[in-house]
Amino acid sequence: MLTYNELIELRNKLTRGEIGLELAKVQYWNDSKEGQRSWNTKDWKERRSKFIKEKCEICSSREILTIQHFSHPRKYSDYLREITREYTKDYIDTNAEINKSEFINYLLRKYDYLPVPLCPNCKGKNPSERVRKIPKYRCADCKHEFDKAIYKSVDELISIFFENDEAYEVRDKCFVSKDKWRNEHNLSSVKYWQQRERVKNKDSETIEKEAFLLHLNDCIKYLSFEDSITACKKCAYHFDIKKMELCPKCKQHYKGLQYLTCIECLPEEQRKAALESIQFGKEWHDIHKRLGID
Ligand SMILES: [Zn+2]
Ligand SMILES: [Zn+2]
Ligand SMILES: [Zn+2]
Repeated sequence: MLTYNELIELRNKLTRGEIGLELAKVQYWNDSKEGQRSWNTKDWKERRSKFIKEKCEICSSREILTIQHFSHPRKYSDYLREITREYTKDYIDTNAEINKSEFINYLLRKYDYLPVPLCPNCKGKNPSERVRKIPKYRCADCKHEFDKAIYKSVDELISIFFENDEAYEVRDKCFVSKDKWRNEHNLSSVKYWQQRERVKNKDSETIEKEAFLLHLNDCIKYLSFEDSITACKKCAYHFDIKKMELCPKCKQHYKGLQYLTCIECLPEEQRKAALESIQFGKEWHDIHKRLGID
């Protein structure tokens, strides 16, 4: 795990192009995995002990002090996904038309076709399969009964899709990805993933570098304690778990982050109303509990 200063140096070198992305990644991940906690390192402990104040900056307690971070680094993989999505969107905006034979190649290479059974009479998509009765199918739309459903070929679907990509016939998610995820897609999503793959092949270096720099920046910010305060365990708990902070008026009770003060500190009328609605909520909850619909 790199120290705070080493991280800053790595970021600057990468930004200035003095080090390649691959090498930077190796240096960064070296012997640590993504998600490994930075606070196990000596560097972190030293910097933390310098930063931490003598008392809670919220309630002034001196008991069990921790550092409360208001933001956490986002994962590299999250940034990667987000930036790939943005690049894909830009690409699609300027390359709406796609080549038909390339699309077919991509489709056949990546997907299995699970055709939707159609009624031979009305071409509807609602024939229900019957286990015991013969004929096997009955169309829910036209009530026609039949043994053999008909299917659209991939070629037919693609022709329709290139005429109108929102046509009724091509909306079904009947293409299943051949990878382990077995995702079910319709032709529009297949097209999206093909374009996304193009973008990834074309701009992978730029995208990865952008994502990696954003992730590095997050880590540096986190390690800098820029967005953090010293808080006692109680205040940290209220903030993290209950989304509450100490009321600035009385500095005694906790309040929801969205409110200006705690209930006790509200003007008389509002305080009554708030307490009544809490009481009402409790009673309501009790009634539900008694009726067993809690
Ligand atoms: Zn506190
Ligand atoms: Zn029918
Ligand atoms: Zn208060």
